[in-house]
Amino acid sequence: MSLEEPDRPPQTASSAAPAQSQQPRRIGLFGGTFDPPHIGHLIVAEAVRDTLHLDEIRWIVANDPWQKTSDRRISDADVRLAMVRAALDGAPGMEASDVEIRLGGASYSIVTLEHLRSAEPDTEWLLIVGADAASGLDTWHRADELADMVEVVVVNRPGECDDNDAGGTAPPGWRWQPVEVPAIGVSSTDLRRRVATGRSIRFLTPAAVADIIDTEQLYRQPR
Ligand code: ATP
Ligand code: MG
Repeated sequence: MSLEEPDRPPQTASSAAPAQSQQPRRIGLFGGTFDPPHIGHLIVAEAVRDTLHLDEIRWIVANDPWQKTSDRRISDADVRLAMVRAALDGAPGMEASDVEIRLGGASYSIVTLEHLRSAEPDTEWLLIVGADAASGLDTWHRADELADMVEVVVVNRPGECDDNDAGGTAPPGWRWQPVEVPAIGVSSTDLRRRVATGRSIRFLTPAAVADIIDTEQLYRQPR
């Protein structure tokens, strides 16, 4: 057996087809502002991918997170996308998506989902949210339609419910399941505050993300 020619049985047309080709791909949509991405996001994404045996986690970087924009200035979408790409660093089963940036304007999950469903019709999509986001699902754009269209995966997030072990819940009328993930008490707000006050963010986000924060001089002004 040479390295060039592995010792495999000859394949017929039928045996050459991948076994899973009949199954729809299952992809978890993980949307966020990611300003910046941090280890909480990474651990959530990997734990959900692994627990639910998903083919992929698609990280959707919000173009204009309309529920947040009145509170503070959001970093440019392209910089946030670059930080997500840097955080993922080619990790298997993880993809950064610029779909909401390309769609432009305010980012609405239902519009994104409609777009993805027509672009990739053979895929089953699940929506991944932390406990804080889950409790607000009814405030999302066209929430009734979104609730009919997608199953939600709710992950626990420290500080978001009385009993951390219980995780979060979605409002009535949503199809959802909980997935327990290692509890990581880290937020982008916390990282921005640390940078603004000259404190360390080492190990709270991958070094490649910290490099972009440094180079782009992000978060130096408290806001
Ligand atoms: P910010 O503090 O700016 O709101 P964030 O840390 O909450 O940032 P987002 O981009 O708002 O990050 O969150 C994207 C998604 O990730 C949301 O569904 C949120 O609930 C989830 N998430 C973020 N951090 C964690 C964490 N530490 N544990 C579990 N879920 C998280
Ligand atoms: Mg948040």
